[in-house]
Amino acid sequence: MSSVWEIEDMPEFEPLREDAQADVCIVGGGIAGIWTAYLLSKAGKSVILLEADKLGRAATLYTTAFITQVIDTDLSDLVKMFGDEKAKLSWLAGREAIDQIEAVIQEEKVDCDFMRVPIHTYAKDDKELETLRDEESEVRRLGFNAGLLESPLKGFTNAGAMKMPGQAKYHPMKFLRGLIKAAEKNGVKFHEKAEAAELTPSAGGVHILTKSGRSVEAKDVVVATYEPFNNPKPTHFKKGMYVTYVYALEIPKDSLEVGLYEDNRNPYHYFRVDDEEDKQTMIVGGEDHRAELGFEEGKSFRALKEFIDDTFTGLKYKVSHKWQGGILEPSDGLPLIGEYAEHQYVAAAFSGNGMTYSAISGKILTDLIMDRGSKYKELYDPKRSLAGKPLLYKFRDYAEEFVGGAVKNLFK
Ligand SMILES: Cc1cc2nc3c(=O)[nH]c(=O)nc-3n(C[C@H](O)[C@H](O)[C@H](O)COP(=O)(O)OP(=O)(O)OC[C@H]3O[C@@H](n4cnc5c(N)ncnc54)[C@H](O)[C@@H]3O)c2cc1C
Repeated sequence: MSSVWEIEDMPEFEPLREDAQADVCIVGGGIAGIWTAYLLSKAGKSVILLEADKLGRAATLYTTAFITQVIDTDLSDLVKMFGDEKAKLSWLAGREAIDQIEAVIQEEKVDCDFMRVPIHTYAKDDKELETLRDEESEVRRLGFNAGLLESPLKGFTNAGAMKMPGQAKYHPMKFLRGLIKAAEKNGVKFHEKAEAAELTPSAGGVHILTKSGRSVEAKDVVVATYEPFNNPKPTHFKKGMYVTYVYALEIPKDSLEVGLYEDNRNPYHYFRVDDEEDKQTMIVGGEDHRAELGFEEGKSFRALKEFIDDTFTGLKYKVSHKWQGGILEPSDGLPLIGEYAEHQYVAAAFSGNGMTYSAISGKILTDLIMDRGSKYKELYDPKRSLAGKPLLYKFRDYAEEFVGGAVKNLFK
């Protein structure tokens, strides 16, 4: 498995060789842990980050790096599940996150190919366009800027799209490299090959024991290990692992408009188009299924290839990379970000929206740890009980995905 985002000069760090102390210990060195380390250190906290392997080499290396407030659960479904106010708040969080990412890139002078682009949720036929018309009016009713394009977009089979401007894309590993350097400048101590084994409450806050027998004493700890490594009770039954599949393609110059695209089917597909000097590149993904189903990966890659050939009829392309990765879906459509036990925080279950949710969780957890409060605390509270309505909607969603794609691909 290889990713298009590999870079040569990622900084490297020593394991934890002595017991240490800090205001905050972050466990997990993916984009969520590094965002949180950066923002906490900027706010004046001393921070130690423990990474089991190497920084940024897990889910973050395999992302497609759409940076968008259009999360995997439709806004009209969020309204039905949580009401206007919370649905709107979740989209506002996404919009703020994109602004925050852009501001930090500018402030820290991070060279990471960041670019504002629209996201197009496209329809395959007129029936799907009608559904998008409803979604677009909900988006505008709640005060966001979207438009319905009723004629086909350039370069592939479609019947039109809902277009949301102001979204973004970047090179995730270049971004991470810049964020690590900025955090280091603020005093963050990074340790690689430093796997946390156990968290226990202590007089000073939390005692973090590593597999190698070293420990960190911290007032607060943030678990940002994708699947929380310590499996805290309040997060039980609130998430499920899916697998998604990706092809990276090289295509001729000017084949499609640069930007982000997704369909509205179940299971859904997504692609991003980037310009290079003499060509375009396109990363196409989808055909997600529950990880427990344990499919032979070839079947899902074949299904994705069929999708590419049906959707981009006649397009000349060359496959440069392919990979697959885990997507941790929240049971009610919203991630788990916040305090799950005294002085212990978690950031998890970002679905396919970890670029925005990592920035959102960095901000929320910094605000909570700094005792500043957060307007998002309740929305993403990992201790929230799962209400019937959201569960019902998401269950229907996941069941449709199972019937619509997973079973079909089983026979490929
Ligand atoms: C194919 C694919 C496409 C995606 N596309 C998008 C997209 O377009 N847009 C988007 O927003 N999101 C997307 N996502 C989701 C996004 O990539 C993830 O949500 C995000 O990268 C998660 O970051 P993280 O820091 O939580 O986890 P990770 O990057 O997985 O980092 C967690 C780290 O914790 C470490 N760790 C684990 N256990 C321990 C331990 N006990 N002690 C110390 N360290 C530990 C791991 O080694 C790892 O480095 C995609 C995901 C995939 C797989």
